[in-house]
Amino acid sequence: MQFKSYWHDTAPPLIRAEQGPAEGHYDVAIVGGGFTGLSAALHLAKAGVRVAVLEGGTVGSGASGRNGGHLNNGIAHSYLAAKAHLGADRAKALYRAFDDSIDSIERIVREETIDCAFRRSGKLKLASKPAHMDALARNFEVLHREVDPDTALLRREDLAAEVGSDAFHGAMLSRKSAMMHMGRYVTGLATAATRYGATIYENALVTQRRQSDGRTELVTPRGTVAANTVILATGAYTTENFPYFRRRIIPVASFIIATRPLSESEIAATMPGNRTYVTSMNIGNYFRLAPDRRMIFGGRARFSATSDQRSDAKSGEILRASLARLFPHLARVEIDYCWGGLVDMTQDRFPRAGFADGVWFAMGYSGHGAQMSTQMGILLADAIMGKSDRNPVNGLEWPAIAGYSGKPWFLPMVGLYYKMLDKIQ
Ligand SMILES: Cc1cc2nc3c(=O)[nH]c(=O)nc-3n(C[C@H](O)[C@H](O)[C@H](O)COP(=O)(O)OP(=O)(O)OC[C@H]3O[C@@H](n4cnc5c(N)ncnc54)[C@H](O)[C@@H]3O)c2cc1C
Repeated sequence: MQFKSYWHDTAPPLIRAEQGPAEGHYDVAIVGGGFTGLSAALHLAKAGVRVAVLEGGTVGSGASGRNGGHLNNGIAHSYLAAKAHLGADRAKALYRAFDDSIDSIERIVREETIDCAFRRSGKLKLASKPAHMDALARNFEVLHREVDPDTALLRREDLAAEVGSDAFHGAMLSRKSAMMHMGRYVTGLATAATRYGATIYENALVTQRRQSDGRTELVTPRGTVAANTVILATGAYTTENFPYFRRRIIPVASFIIATRPLSESEIAATMPGNRTYVTSMNIGNYFRLAPDRRMIFGGRARFSATSDQRSDAKSGEILRASLARLFPHLARVEIDYCWGGLVDMTQDRFPRAGFADGVWFAMGYSGHGAQMSTQMGILLADAIMGKSDRNPVNGLEWPAIAGYSGKPWFLPMVGLYYKMLDKIQ
C-alpha cells in the first residue's frame, strides 16, 4: 500500500512552472495553487491581466489533489437548513452557484482540452437510517420544487440498480453532479493558466507580506514578488502569517483509501449505478469509482487536525472496516492507496469570499469545494476586474471563532458530539 494520494500518483507534474527566482511586479499575485487560485489565475490571465501564483508546495498539493473527487451540486447543508440560516434568496443563489460551478468546470475542461475523465455521473445521498430517509424526503420536496428539478427520490427497493449494499433505506439522486480525475484537472488548469501568460512558482511558500509604495510584497524562499492586488487562496493550509483567516478557518482532516482496480463483476455487485455516493451519517462515508475502476472510499474516520502517514494509516484501518461493513464482499480487497488531507471548514459550514484584511479571498467550502473553488476563482477574478459581482456569499458575516487562533483544540469534543448524534438520530 502506498501512503500517497491516488490523484497525485496518476497525474503528470506541471512542466510549465517557472524555474527562475520569484521576482517581478504583477497586477495580481495569488497565494495558493489549488483550484481556487488556479481558476482565478486562468480567468485573469485570459483577460490579459499580469498574474503570478505562489504555491508553497506543488500545484494541487493541498486539498485540491487529495479529495474524494465528487463534484456534487448542492451545498454542505440540506437546502432546508440553508434556507433557515441564510434566507430563501441567498440559499437559492448559493445552490445555483454550485450548479454553475460544475458547468464552469465542464466548460474549462472542454475549452482547454483537459484530459480528466469529467463525467456527469449524478450523486446519490444514501439514507443510513429510516429516519434519515424521512429527512431526505422533506428536504427533497422543497428542493425539487424551488431550485433543482433535476433530482429524484429513490426508495429502498429502487437502490438495487444503484448500489450493492443492503445498508441503506433510500436515497436522493442529484443528476447534475459529476466526477473527474482531480489530479489531471489541477495540472490541466495550471497548464492552461500558463498558456495565457500566468507565471506559476512552485515551492514558493509566502512567509511574509508587507506594504511598500502602495503595492504588496510577498516574500518567499525563492525571492520576493510585488503586486497591486493579492488573492489569498490557501484554504485549510493557510499559514500563521495570515492570522485574520487562521482565526476563522478550521482545518479538519479527512481520509481516503483506494482499492486495487475492481473487476466488472465486483463493480456490478458494488456500484452498478457508477455515481458519486455519500452516506447520511454525520461521521459518514463517500465513495466512487476511479477512472481505472478502483473504489475510492473516504470519510472523516477520526476528528483530527493532522494528516501525516501515522494519522492516515490509523484512519485507513477505520475506513477499511467501514468499507467491509457496507460491502462485505469487499472485506478482503487489497488497498493500494491511503492518504489524507485537510478540509477548510467554517464554523457554520458556509463558504466565505470577498475582500478582507487587505486581500481578496475565497475559502471555507467545508468539504464541498472540489467544484465551488473553480467557480469562486472565476467570481473573484471578475470582481477584481470590476465586472458584476456574482459572489453568492458577498457580505455574509464572518466573525472570528472565540478562543481560537488556528489550532483546533476542540476537534475531539466535536467528534464525540457527532458520534453521539449518529447514535441517537
Ligand atoms: C480528503 C478530502 C476529501 C475531500 N473530498 C471532497 C469531495 O469529494 N468533494 C468536494 O466538493 N470537496 C472535497 N474536499 C474539499 C475540496 O478538496 C477543497 O474544498 C478544495 O480543493 C479547496 O481548494 P482550494 O484551492 O481553495 O484549496 P487547496 O487545494 O487546499 O489549496 C491551497 C494551497 O495553498 C497553499 N498555501 C497555503 N499557504 C501558503 C502560503 N503561505 N504560501 C504559498 N502557498 C500556500 C497550499 O500549499 C495549498 O496547495 C475534500 C477535501 C479533502 C482534504
